[in-house]
Amino acid sequence: MVGNQIPHQILREVFGHSQFRNPQERVIETLMAGGNALVLMPTGGGKSLCYQIPALALPGTAVVVSPLIALMEDQVRALHQLGIPALALHSGLETVQQQCVEEKLAAGQLKLLYCAPERLLQERTLRILEQTGISLVAIDEAHCVSQWGHDFRPEYLRLHVLRRKFPSTPHVALTATADLQTQAEIMARLELSGAPVFSRSFDRPNIRYSVCRHGSPRESLLGFLRRQHPCSSGIVYCTSRKKVEETAAWLQLRGFPALPYHAGMNLAARQEHQRQFQQNDVPIMVATVAFGMGIDKPDVRFVAHMNLPKSLEAYYQETGRAGRDGLPADAWIHYGFQDIFQLRRRILESSHSHPARKVLDESRLQSMLDFCEEQGCRRQCLLSHFGEALEGNCRNCDNCLFPQDPWTATQAAQKAFSAIYRTGQKFGVRHLIEVLQGRQTPRILQLGHDRLSVYGIGSDIPASSWQALFRHLLAKSYILPHPEGHGGLVLDVSSRDILRGKTEICLGHEG
Ligand code: ADP
Ligand code: ZN
Repeated sequence: MVGNQIPHQILREVFGHSQFRNPQERVIETLMAGGNALVLMPTGGGKSLCYQIPALALPGTAVVVSPLIALMEDQVRALHQLGIPALALHSGLETVQQQCVEEKLAAGQLKLLYCAPERLLQERTLRILEQTGISLVAIDEAHCVSQWGHDFRPEYLRLHVLRRKFPSTPHVALTATADLQTQAEIMARLELSGAPVFSRSFDRPNIRYSVCRHGSPRESLLGFLRRQHPCSSGIVYCTSRKKVEETAAWLQLRGFPALPYHAGMNLAARQEHQRQFQQNDVPIMVATVAFGMGIDKPDVRFVAHMNLPKSLEAYYQETGRAGRDGLPADAWIHYGFQDIFQLRRRILESSHSHPARKVLDESRLQSMLDFCEEQGCRRQCLLSHFGEALEGNCRNCDNCLFPQDPWTATQAAQKAFSAIYRTGQKFGVRHLIEVLQGRQTPRILQLGHDRLSVYGIGSDIPASSWQALFRHLLAKSYILPHPEGHGGLVLDVSSRDILRGKTEICLGHEG
């Protein structure tokens, strides 16, 4: 059938590839037959061809919505090199340049028009498009419609206008975000319900996942770099701008050339740092999540997280910047009790203004914590979050490579709960561990906690194991931050299941 041959021919002759990757061909067939589609492929999977090939095969101009000027310009440049007439329309252009694009568009001279959403939705642009005749609408980075996602773009919410204005034109939404919630949001917001979903496995087998929970974040990072990446290129993510600056300077001092990157820096400095990183002049970038979309450096050998990301989805996206060349790479994260405590507290604090958001934020954070506390294969845990099953162990995550002896800590957990309860549910983890271990600190003596029945009942367990246990209990929400602030801990109702022996607590011994 001719319809099937044309895409293959374009793939070979224009793009120089011999075969389609899954699911490119099925997406292209669907669009060419006039249907809509949602495409989920990890970064680097090959989303662009899904709409570029139909754009070339169908009569008219394909409109591609994209959230970032840099992304649009990159794509246009790549298409020009292949001799394909494509242009971008966005606010970064001078008026004459915009007019020039509009004229070419109106004259039907473009096969692809990349467009920023706000520009596209202007009456003027829509009018030209109605006259031109458009072959297809592609909405790239479609997860930007997700209001509570970290790449939210309010203009994306209005894109359903296109579906209504061009109801018989095929629409395709594309994203590297895979969680089911975001998928449903994209379908609803872009009015694509009923459209088939095409996805490619989200597994990145060359990335090794490991979680580090002991020691200070910085010292652990240094150990990790010295052991595994003495001269590799990598990204170190921190949550605050201050931490970014400090960590970059700290690494520099220890002989690891590193640059900071965060939204508080001016544009010129950010661009300069990105350039130096991209060209390997400086191999390590210490950054907030502001350093993200649009990075295309194939030889990033590690992505290290000094704090917990807000969700497993975010973690997957951020670590996905490692090993794009397919060679071995590391995704390493350090986290501890304090990280969880602070994130849980922040969610509690914001819950007054946004009760619905609290539930969502909690479930997102929980997915991340479950990954960190996982004792089985981390890749299985990650993929199952995206609805994908992985048979057997991956042999390329810390738990598969270095399994830990299990520690059935149910009794210890019961003791921890008793300590929290007997001290009045207002003390922090350090004091509780001191009570359990029977320490004679001035505070314990002053409060009379040495006379409690729980005093010293956990002296057989080392402090580091207690810390791991408290962290696990907080990660699994058996214990919670005190609602009124300070560092205190309270019991959640779910702790009763453990007190009654209905649920066992099992964790690995951590070295
Ligand atoms: P994404 O947008 O999903 O991150 P791109 O569309 O930029 O990914 O594609 C990533 C890389 O994969 C590009 O270098 C592209 O040329 C290459 N690629 C895409 N499809 C194929 C294919 N069928 N065969 C070989 N290489 C491909
Ligand atoms: Zn594994």
